[in-house]
Amino acid sequence: MDDRPVAELTALEAHVEVASLRDRIAELADAYYARNEPLVSDADYDAMMRRLDEIEREFPEVQSQDSPTQRVGGRTDSTLFSPVVHRERLYSLDNVFTLDELTEWMTKTERDAARAIQWLCEVKIDGLALSMRYENGVLVQAATRGDGVTGEDVTENVALIPSIPQRLSGSGHPAVVEIRGEVFFRTAEFDDLNARQSSLGEKTFANPRNAASGSLRQKAESKNERQLDLMRDRLNRLSLYVHGIGAWDNPPVANQSEVYEMLKSWGMPTSPHWRTVTSFEGALEYVRHHGEHRHDIEHEIDGVVVKVDALDLHSFLGATSRAPRWAIAYKYPPEQVNTVLLDIVVGVGRTGRATPYAVMKPVTVAGSVVRQATLHNKDVVAQKGVLLGDTVVLRKAGDVIPEILGPVVELRDGTQREWSMPTGCPECGATLAPSKEGDVDLRCPNTEHCPAQVRGRVEHIGSRGALDIEGLGEVTAAALTQPLFPTKPPLSSEAGLFDLTIDDLFPIEVAVKDSETGLPKLDERTGETITQTPFRATVKKELVPSQDAIKLIKGLEAAKSKDLWRFLVALNIRHVGPVAARALASHFGSLAAIESASIEELSAVEGVGSIIAASVVEWLEVDWHQDIVARWRAAGVRFEISGHPGPGAAAETVDGPLSGMTVVVTGTLPGFTRDEAEEVVRRAGGKISSSVSRKTDIVFVGEGAGTKEAKARELGIRIVPAEDFAATLRL
Ligand code: NAD
Repeated sequence: MDDRPVAELTALEAHVEVASLRDRIAELADAYYARNEPLVSDADYDAMMRRLDEIEREFPEVQSQDSPTQRVGGRTDSTLFSPVVHRERLYSLDNVFTLDELTEWMTKTERDAARAIQWLCEVKIDGLALSMRYENGVLVQAATRGDGVTGEDVTENVALIPSIPQRLSGSGHPAVVEIRGEVFFRTAEFDDLNARQSSLGEKTFANPRNAASGSLRQKAESKNERQLDLMRDRLNRLSLYVHGIGAWDNPPVANQSEVYEMLKSWGMPTSPHWRTVTSFEGALEYVRHHGEHRHDIEHEIDGVVVKVDALDLHSFLGATSRAPRWAIAYKYPPEQVNTVLLDIVVGVGRTGRATPYAVMKPVTVAGSVVRQATLHNKDVVAQKGVLLGDTVVLRKAGDVIPEILGPVVELRDGTQREWSMPTGCPECGATLAPSKEGDVDLRCPNTEHCPAQVRGRVEHIGSRGALDIEGLGEVTAAALTQPLFPTKPPLSSEAGLFDLTIDDLFPIEVAVKDSETGLPKLDERTGETITQTPFRATVKKELVPSQDAIKLIKGLEAAKSKDLWRFLVALNIRHVGPVAARALASHFGSLAAIESASIEELSAVEGVGSIIAASVVEWLEVDWHQDIVARWRAAGVRFEISGHPGPGAAAETVDGPLSGMTVVVTGTLPGFTRDEAEEVVRRAGGKISSSVSRKTDIVFVGEGAGTKEAKARELGIRIVPAEDFAATLRL
């Protein structure tokens, strides 16, 4: 697609571009509507339609009744199903993509109507349209939208969709009415369906919209018994919400919203997600709200439909050849896009797990730029069926981690290549292997010295849940374990962490990473890697330790006197996180006591259990682990709670204002992070719990508190507002 402004095109260029856009759109629409296999993302398709529409407006001579901008997309020459001519034609919807465009449309519509309008706002269901003809209350035919005039007869399949009544309830039904609605999969049902497909070795579906379309448009003929079962199962899982009527000359109601109430009283499934508003702001607010709560609804939505509620205005405003003038679709930014899979790279984490991840051509999806997505393990890569160089469908919904759904197979041109899992660790070369038989995950066995694992462990030691050392994050961990210079890194294992001196840090040189790609930056002139020295600076022409160097050494020194449980977390013992570490620390009081405890004694501690106990014992038996403890001890780490009376005596039963109380914190407490708030509660003698029950003594409620507050109220538990938090704890 040309990206020059339309106004700059010559008439000839406009002609050429229009012809090529129409060809391409026809090809894409065929793949989408007839085969349910889109070749491009909806956003790209919409952008092409928009460009075509703009050119046609600027150059009226290229306009044509045949243009896709003038027609309802969809197949008319279906060979699968018999054609059905709708009694009254079905339309598509015009789109807007910004709130300004929506306001403009509402302004124009109100001007054309020459009266104040009540707007009906609904979520736009991402499914496919269905028209059902009821005669005297009995379903006689169901058809897809097709080109709006002629659809496909899917009556037999529709009989298997549970929520569609064969007979309307109540009485006084019109002789003929066409009830229109959207067929879709509920998100939970879709996930279930895909899980079932995959357990049966059948292909999974890329998204609920295409799955719904593919499910409704199945033909029973030529299917064997098993396939018929699968077909019925898929139809059985489909849902429908109705959103309009046709072929009924004089409905006994004045508004579309009343139509919904009436259809509901007839037993038709109506959506709970609509409301009427009388102001533009009301409609804009509705759009904003559902933009933020897009995934709170039981099905996928791709936008909001704003309709004029009054039915008399529907006929007054009329329709273009493609869409009614009394409704508009506001489309949200896409959550599914296509991009190119450039490479699959294997990363090794602190536990040695080798995880393949996709490196993609950067693409914006759900408001952020995505260039990487995890592929979990080699089996997932195989299951997704992606090849290097493939165009892939990428999904990122809201805050959810981006995921590659699969390749667009039809776009392969022979240049794509198979990927295979490397046999050696990409960072140290050790042969990758599963940690136990039958595991899909491969791990690097060089636990002690693999630089990637050491880097990961050092980063973990500095993290907030462990020793919380300022200045020891991802970048510093990499500088200490994998610098460009010196060739022998200051840390080849975490054992030496507390022995580090300014002299060790001073010479370190690292590569400057590109914040966009994460790759080393190259000097444009020389092509060499750009380096920096994070731990030394030039002051008055003299080389001195940088602030970062001083901060790190001070941070390490201060960390030595931190709580015992933090050290237990910092040792990177499998399964030992802050909760288990706290339990072990407060029960045993010292690492020495833990070292001499048996598995039974360890697992008897509340919050520990046999898996953690075994993992602790196993960890302590390893030579180089013992070396870490010995070197940290030698550097001044005490690994004990001073004054602890020994195993079993709970030294941490602090005498304070919350002694003996079970406490829940919900919402944000000003001035405290969640961790800090919990920490001070513990210091005040309280026991933190994550849920409210009859055993709870007190609930601190801050802004954004949700169901926990309601639960506490219901159970009559003492509720203390955020502003009284500090006073209650006598801080
Ligand atoms: P549309 O999906 O943008 O909007 C019209 C349809 O919305 C209506 O026909 C109706 O069925 C449905 N709808 C959902 N909720 C509704 C509600 N509450 N009230 C009224 N109607 C509601 O238009 P379309 O013509 O069906 O399809 C065009 C769209 O399909 C494009 O915008 C594009 O996103 C997608 N498409 C994609 C490709 C591709 O290659 N990716 C190809 C063709 C079409």
